[in-house]
Amino acid sequence: MRVLVAGAGISGLTAAHALTRAGHTVTVLEQAPALRLGGGAITLWHNGTAILTDLGIDLTATGQPLTTLALRTATGRTILRIDLDALARRFDSHALALPRRALITRLRTAPDAVHVHTRDGHHHTADLLIGADGVHSRVRAALLGDTRPALTGAATWQGLALAPFDPGTTTTMMIGRQGDLGYTGAGGGLIQCFFDIPWPRHTPPQPLPRDEALRLLSRRYATWGDPAPQLLDTLTRADAGLYPHTRHTVPRRWGAGRCVLLGDAAHGMPPIMAHGANQALEDVAALMDCLTTPHPPDPSAIARAYTARRRRRAALASTLATRSLAVSGPRTLLQSEHLLRLNATLPPRLATLGFGRLLAALSNRI
Ligand SMILES: Cc1cc2nc3c(=O)[nH]c(=O)nc-3n(C[C@H](O)[C@H](O)[C@H](O)COP(=O)(O)OP(=O)(O)OC[C@H]3O[C@@H](n4cnc5c(N)ncnc54)[C@H](O)[C@@H]3O)c2cc1C
Repeated sequence: MRVLVAGAGISGLTAAHALTRAGHTVTVLEQAPALRLGGGAITLWHNGTAILTDLGIDLTATGQPLTTLALRTATGRTILRIDLDALARRFDSHALALPRRALITRLRTAPDAVHVHTRDGHHHTADLLIGADGVHSRVRAALLGDTRPALTGAATWQGLALAPFDPGTTTTMMIGRQGDLGYTGAGGGLIQCFFDIPWPRHTPPQPLPRDEALRLLSRRYATWGDPAPQLLDTLTRADAGLYPHTRHTVPRRWGAGRCVLLGDAAHGMPPIMAHGANQALEDVAALMDCLTTPHPPDPSAIARAYTARRRRRAALASTLATRSLAVSGPRTLLQSEHLLRLNATLPPRLATLGFGRLLAALSNRI
């Protein structure tokens, strides 16, 4: 089958790799003149790494394998430790944080039959078009006639820099009334840190001058315990960027005729809880399954089967990413030090079991 993939991001390149491996002829159309290698680090949970391994992507000697997920309050008190290593044994795959460029580079070394074209006005014909063109997808607009993703009221300042301390193999989230921040080692002595801040829903995404943003963050997180001050300092030296959170309504159909949507084009969601790329990888695995299962001659049958397999899980991930943490409004009351400390009464084994159940509920693979 001849397949056109619009977009050379994580979902498009993974799909191109999987399809080429399955013997299809794939052309990737990318609007940018070169692959985007920036964008900090990505956390892949056990489902994401399992799918990449299934597809033959070698993840050895890259990034930072994660063995623990720690939740801390704004004063720095640890309230929950989730044993990611125990989940690695259960799911036979591990959690990993790696720079986005490292992942894209691994995906780019896909087999030679993939051709990358820049926007050059050429016409392409194929048996299937995959819209993997991100949250502002043109393919989605053409297919569903639907519009831009909505701003959710928050934004993330994130940066990847040389680590000022050794975060080990623990990925940490600190939560407080002002919002949340997180940090994780990303391999090679790098640390990924992020701060979530309010972002007015009516303000379109636009760059905020770096100094202004850092002043805003310093004021907001001024009372937070270690290592918040060090992380703020790290951000000033980092390859940092501001990402206003947006969210798509997860559509009822993810394709029609000879066209399907993949990744953020189908279900753009805020980065909170780190599910966007993991869900994109789930899409690729599900689509590959649907392409190898015999279907009626109607090409829409593939799109229907693929939507049925993925929609509910992606919608759950999107809801969690949008609702689980607040940076403003009454929901921040639930993030007060006193209430959060109640979590410390939860036995670690139960917390690990709960997180494992959540990952399994979001995945068709594990
Ligand atoms: C701050 C931040 C942190 C994140 N952290 C995590 C994390 O830790 N774990 C996780 O799982 N997820 C994370 N995510 C989400 C994750 O980055 C995305 O879900 C993922 O990159 C989506 O991949 P994609 O390929 O669908 O889209 P994209 O990565 O957006 O790629 C789309 C590609 O399509 C191209 N394109 C756009 N329009 C066209 C067109 N008309 N024609 C051709 N090409 C086009 C673009 O140039 C781009 O190359 C994070 C997101 C942000 C913003």
